[in-house]
Amino acid sequence: MQPTDILKQYFGYSSFRPGQEEVIKTLLARRDCLAIMPTGAGKSLCFQIPGLMLPGITLIISPLISLMKDQVDTLVNQEIPAVYINSQCTWDELRQRFSEIRAGRVKLVYISPERLQNEFFTSFMQTQPISLVVIDEAHCVSQWGHDFRPSYCAISAWVEALPRRPVVAAFTATATEKVKKDMQQLLGLREERVFVGGFDRPNLYFRVVRDTDRTRFILAYLASHREDSGIIYAATRKEVDRLYTEIRHQGFSVGRYHAGMSDEARKKEQERFTYDKIQVIVATNAFGMGIDKSNVRYIIHYQMPKNIESYYQEAGRAGRDGGPGECILLFSRQDIMIQKYLIEHSVHTVEQQQREQDMLNRMVGYCETRGCLRQYILSYFGERPEWTACGKCGNCDQEVVEEDQTNIVRPICACVDELKGRFGMTLVCDILKGSQSAKVKQYGFQRLVLFGALSNFTGREIRDSVRQSVLDGYLQQSEGKYPVLSLTALGRQVLAGKERAIQKVAVRQEPELAAVP
Ligand code: ADP
Ligand code: ZN
Repeated sequence: MQPTDILKQYFGYSSFRPGQEEVIKTLLARRDCLAIMPTGAGKSLCFQIPGLMLPGITLIISPLISLMKDQVDTLVNQEIPAVYINSQCTWDELRQRFSEIRAGRVKLVYISPERLQNEFFTSFMQTQPISLVVIDEAHCVSQWGHDFRPSYCAISAWVEALPRRPVVAAFTATATEKVKKDMQQLLGLREERVFVGGFDRPNLYFRVVRDTDRTRFILAYLASHREDSGIIYAATRKEVDRLYTEIRHQGFSVGRYHAGMSDEARKKEQERFTYDKIQVIVATNAFGMGIDKSNVRYIIHYQMPKNIESYYQEAGRAGRDGGPGECILLFSRQDIMIQKYLIEHSVHTVEQQQREQDMLNRMVGYCETRGCLRQYILSYFGERPEWTACGKCGNCDQEVVEEDQTNIVRPICACVDELKGRFGMTLVCDILKGSQSAKVKQYGFQRLVLFGALSNFTGREIRDSVRQSVLDGYLQQSEGKYPVLSLTALGRQVLAGKERAIQKVAVRQEPELAAVP
């Protein structure tokens, strides 16, 4: 039998989700692996199917004792020979399960990590044919993870003490570099293949709307989505209250949710939303933990969140039923200042501040990119999709035309040339815009001839054009933490007036605004 046959016969699904099949094949080829997939992506099948196909038994180490029974009951219902062994089992149950395992009637054995410290269990398992050891929630081995479990640190030695070393597979939804390194080292993985995948949510449409009248946008959007259920996230309680009042004033059925409200009031609002008594809820990021509403059709962010993890988690609450969902982020450059302020004024170490600043920069990059938004998110999470444009996000759908932009590109090139490759994009934009930023003043750049040369363009237009000039090869941007810009040979041609700069520019289109009376 092939993995797809098992998928159909035992689990009743017709096809694999992205990433599942590769993990399964790797384990069947008896190679260790580390698989990082988001919650709900379908990790269980990735080890259950090899567990059924490999000879002998598969041991699954899981920290969630409370879920173990449900998982195993479901498997048994699907006629999959599985058992669990943990502190909640009675003596009778344990005796019976050990004898079934000994008789070769069990394929999947779920255990808690603490069980590995049990001497009887250990010596029993040393006599059994274990093909595969699965470590679920593998981030628990890392102190950098969000729920460290000391007992996870003993797994590696336990596995090495088995007479024949089984294949080891670690699964988690946590993707930070530190945790990843810890998992690779502390779990004793050997020549493992690493999979990062399944982060894509194909039914979600992503869109960034920049520099718009946000309240007006939201009212217009609600007016054209009266049948749909949605969440609007705002950054502060004050903002939630203001928006809520405004939306209610316009006659929409709306609720609100933030930490300043009483527990009772919040619970009531959450229920009204869950049971479709209200159509839309305005909330801070306090809303969402544990909400389980599958038919949310849109998520609008009134402000930019602090990082992509938060954004994707909140946006991901749309379309959980598999139906269409729209995720719109309303962006204004002021949001950056607010988030910076929050980072600087939160009690963190310098190192932590730097980390959060980096994450914020990536979030800003999302808001400003002209490239595919889905691609941006997936590559942030470490996925390498084969395509570069998804064809179904606000940027992919954006209509672009080619225009002669020499009048803006030439001053950009001149400015970069003037700065002699020592500064980055922000400063170049500030100078051309004529902004008296601290750094401009510090270096006395307000005295440059080019200072304010593009003051009749918006900051965003200048920035877009600088970015595009890098993409088009007029400028070159260095790697690293503080990327600097320098002029290329092509850029020099434009500067010398020997080349015209033809650039792709976006046609501004905001259909929702047209709906405003
Ligand atoms: P995770 O452990 O990654 O959070 P689960 O393994 O619990 O996710 O799977 C989430 C849900 O997706 C489950 O209901 C599971 O049955 C379902 N699922 C997994 N793989 C597939 C598939 N190939 N086709 C359809 N549904 C799937
Ligand atoms: Zn796209």
